[in-house]
Amino acid sequence: DEKLGCQRLTPQTTVNLLDSVDVFLFDCDGVIWKGDALIDGVADTLDTLRAMGKKLVFVTNNSTKSRRRYAEKFSSLGISVAEDEIFSSSFAAAMYLKVNDFPKEKKVLVSELLLWGLVRGGGSNPTRCIYVIGEEGILEELELAGFTALGGPEDGKKTVHMKPNNFFEHDKNVGAVVVGLDKYINYYKLQYGTLCIRENPGCLFIATNRDAVGHLTNLQEFPGAGCMVAAVCGSTQKEPIVVGKPSTFLMDFLLQKFNIPTCRMCMVGDRLDTDILFGQNSGCRTLLVLSGVTNLSDIQDSSNHIQPDYYTSTLSDVVSLFNN
Ligand code: PLP
Ligand code: CA
Repeated sequence: DEKLGCQRLTPQTTVNLLDSVDVFLFDCDGVIWKGDALIDGVADTLDTLRAMGKKLVFVTNNSTKSRRRYAEKFSSLGISVAEDEIFSSSFAAAMYLKVNDFPKEKKVLVSELLLWGLVRGGGSNPTRCIYVIGEEGILEELELAGFTALGGPEDGKKTVHMKPNNFFEHDKNVGAVVVGLDKYINYYKLQYGTLCIRENPGCLFIATNRDAVGHLTNLQEFPGAGCMVAAVCGSTQKEPIVVGKPSTFLMDFLLQKFNIPTCRMCMVGDRLDTDILFGQNSGCRTLLVLSGVTNLSDIQDSSNHIQPDYYTSTLSDVVSLFNN
């Protein structure tokens, strides 16, 4: 550990950690599951932490599902998690637009949204129109928040016809383009999103996340939302507003919701440039688990500047070291 800026979790540091933390924020893929497979020992570990009175929150950059669908996924894996303990980048996109009172660009405080129950719904203003290069999770969260969502998987079947005099029409009301992982991305969607952003200087360009890869299955990594976002950066020459990890947007939302200081929080994740940075950006304690995409040599690499406070093999160590 000497050349590392972080420590391997030991029985003593685990006791200290559990004493000084009230809220655990968990990244999902690589910590809780890999694709659809639960990581060994996770269910018991979460039960034990709850029994110790810890508050558990789950933060995932995977935008393909809504919070409702993540609650179903947890339940199908035998873990009981409430929808309001889940913060997905799909939900973050919807909340970002709410907080910015899109399309008026008049800021609303997160505390106001929560206090007045404004997280859901919001009338039928036809100008609250958003084009989505992404999947169901984003569509569902935007619609629940009261926005009109266009695009999504449906547009995966459409094509661009480039015949003489053909003109590509897009809805001029679109005031934001949200880009996330889209397994059905095509040239039609790229043209649509690009026109919205380029032709309306006020149109927001929002990325749910920029992960390079994700575990769509437990055996292999697949291209993540980062490549869809990069495609739109390429055609628009603009940079997006990122709402998922490591952006502080979700953390600010969480902090207002739970009203607990970050010094009593620990972010547990498997990625340095999303999870660990997310925790550090807000002053949380950070624990890297090696059950996902990062291994020990990545932390030791001299080109890596993101060091967690602690690292350990897998989440269940938190309980087994404590009992040691
Ligand atoms: N995006 C996609 C499409 C993914 O498949 C994954 C992981 O499977 C992620 C992002 C990262 O998710 P998490 O933040 O839960 O690690
Ligand atoms: Ca992860």
